[in-house]
Amino acid sequence: NDKILELKNVVYSFRTYGGEVKAVRDVSFEVRKGEILGIVGESGCGKSVTAQCIMRLNPEPPGFFEGGEIFFNGKDILKMNKKELRNIRGRDIGFVFQDPMTSLNPTMRIGKQIEEVFLGRTDISKSEVKEKALEIMKLVGISDVEKRYRQYPHELSGGMKQRVMIAIALVSRPSLVICDEPTTSLDVTIEAQILDLLLELREKLGTSIIMITHDLGVIARMCDRVIVMYGGKVVEKGTVSEIFYNTAHPYTKGLMQSIAKLDTQKGEKLKPIEGTPPDLFFPPKGCPFAARCEYAMDVCKDNPPLEYQVCKEHVTSCWLQHEYAPDTDIKKQGAV
Ligand code: SF4
Ligand code: MG
Repeated sequence: NDKILELKNVVYSFRTYGGEVKAVRDVSFEVRKGEILGIVGESGCGKSVTAQCIMRLNPEPPGFFEGGEIFFNGKDILKMNKKELRNIRGRDIGFVFQDPMTSLNPTMRIGKQIEEVFLGRTDISKSEVKEKALEIMKLVGISDVEKRYRQYPHELSGGMKQRVMIAIALVSRPSLVICDEPTTSLDVTIEAQILDLLLELREKLGTSIIMITHDLGVIARMCDRVIVMYGGKVVEKGTVSEIFYNTAHPYTKGLMQSIAKLDTQKGEKLKPIEGTPPDLFFPPKGCPFAARCEYAMDVCKDNPPLEYQVCKEHVTSCWLQHEYAPDTDIKKQGAV
């Protein structure tokens, strides 16, 4: 069994004063050993909430699971008690966020912050921690480690801070690291360096990585497989080459055309197709993309599309592939 993580029909919502927000709606996918899996979509599509669900990072309440299972190495995370969850977080699953400043302590030297994580472990003695901290700083490509060790977060550049965060995430050599837009706040050159570092670490340590991004360029550069999310659902998933060169879902097609067309500015919100994503207080009954889809048919409005297996490593949820589909242009273009 090469699956390290498997989400099955996960439904996650938030109770708010305005009602229930259906953030994650029936999401299923797996992460395999040593792979980099991308999750791509516009902001609000549910990609970050999905990632947070895996580690139960959202406060519950207001967040709650309406259904589903999340197996990590065969054990359902949703059935774990607080202690088991704490053990998994940080030890077996690491997390790297977009903004390292929210996770680093501004009043504490870098070296001490890394050491603290080591000290939480029983197999490492106090006298060893400094050596261990310097070692992991080198592993993530920090040069001049003795100097960096003594510095405070504000003395480091954004890219260097993100290296420190990656070091912290890697302290216990987790088998899975979840990265949520880890390079979105960095400039292009530094972004490339951080992405290369993650690729190198996967190579060296065999770590599985979930890479959450709104940037298809990041997916192309990094990932083995990709999940495309829209309106809290997975609309298409497959290998990167299938998704890029044999795109089946109209939403994914829109994303592809948008990178071909516009020179996306960094940090800009991905909004490739006219219209706005669905209101997740009142999610559409049928296909989440129906209101913006140029191929929408009668069947789409009220019926959630079934999964269609394009090929062994490619699944899409769209009625176009089914018997209801009229002979549309997208079919003639050979996309379906
Ligand atoms: Fe468009 Fe219908 Fe396919 Fe949804 S199911 S993407 S509305 S064609
Ligand atoms: Mg996000």
